[in-house]
Amino acid sequence: MIGTGLAVYVDYGAMVNRIACRFVLISTNSSSPLFCGTEMSLKVYIAGELVDKADAKVSVFDHGFLYGDGVFEGIRVYNGRVFLMDEHIARLYESALAIRLEIPLSPAEMIEAVNKTVVANGITEGYVRLVISRGAGTLGLDIRRTSNPQVIIIADTISLYPPEMYRDGLKVITASTIRNHAGALSPRIKSLNYLNNILAKIEATDTGCIEALMLNAQGEVAECTGDNIFIVKDGVLKTPPPEAGILEGITRGAVMGLAKQAGLAVQEVAMVRHDIYIADECFLTGTAAEVIPVVDLDGRKIGSGTPGPVTKDLLERFQTLKTGG
Ligand code: PMP
Repeated sequence: MIGTGLAVYVDYGAMVNRIACRFVLISTNSSSPLFCGTEMSLKVYIAGELVDKADAKVSVFDHGFLYGDGVFEGIRVYNGRVFLMDEHIARLYESALAIRLEIPLSPAEMIEAVNKTVVANGITEGYVRLVISRGAGTLGLDIRRTSNPQVIIIADTISLYPPEMYRDGLKVITASTIRNHAGALSPRIKSLNYLNNILAKIEATDTGCIEALMLNAQGEVAECTGDNIFIVKDGVLKTPPPEAGILEGITRGAVMGLAKQAGLAVQEVAMVRHDIYIADECFLTGTAAEVIPVVDLDGRKIGSGTPGPVTKDLLERFQTLKTGG
């Protein structure tokens, strides 16, 4: 029985294999964890091949590791479909262009590699992490002395925030760490260097929050550590513009489109913290978070202190969009 399962795995890949694994466990009461562990192993795309997670390795001389020199994307998979793939791939190549990193695959080849990795891992609801690192070089910074940028694709499941956070809303604090100055490292680049965000995230988690608001060097609202921010004020949906020093989130773009479809006025406008405090509603958007209400900033209750009607409506519209509706 186990042998049969293994043969199926070798011939047809992980998706069939996972089904076979379940069958073996149920039908034979097998106590062979190794068999199941082996076949459940994640396949990572690296150097053009799908290899076992344990064999997916990069050089310690890779500048992605030494300097955070590279770019990345996080993409959701819903119903076996890679959600907003074209938008994510476009942003990946824009980020790479900005840091003078030549990706060794064309966008079409990249899309094919992502799809292949998702299928090989049997992911129907999950998350893809696409990483492009500069490649191995010397211990110096010179990109001319690096070679072989690495394309790494990980397709895995993702654990969602608890449902009560979507129902009740989040409490957020403002971090003292300001968002990277666009003239130093533009937040529009989704680079492998996330220390700026990590430092702010530490401030959030230290106070028991999962997100922190980040301001730019002018004291304007930029974004959260891994999410874009929106408010609703007097029936208008407002979010900071790219010039505020934000990552132009793919979910942000999708939600702005949904809001316009719903007949809402949408403004990309500079804001300060006070605008959030006195907003009627507030929510965050991101690939991992999707659309999540915020009900408190720095101990100030936002609006009624519960997720508002516009937020709930957009959350619902997003749920429909992601499932292809
Ligand atoms: N801002 C930052 C700093 C992020 O890391 C993310 C997550 N990628 C976002 C915003 C949201 O972007 P997206 O909707 O494309 O995931």
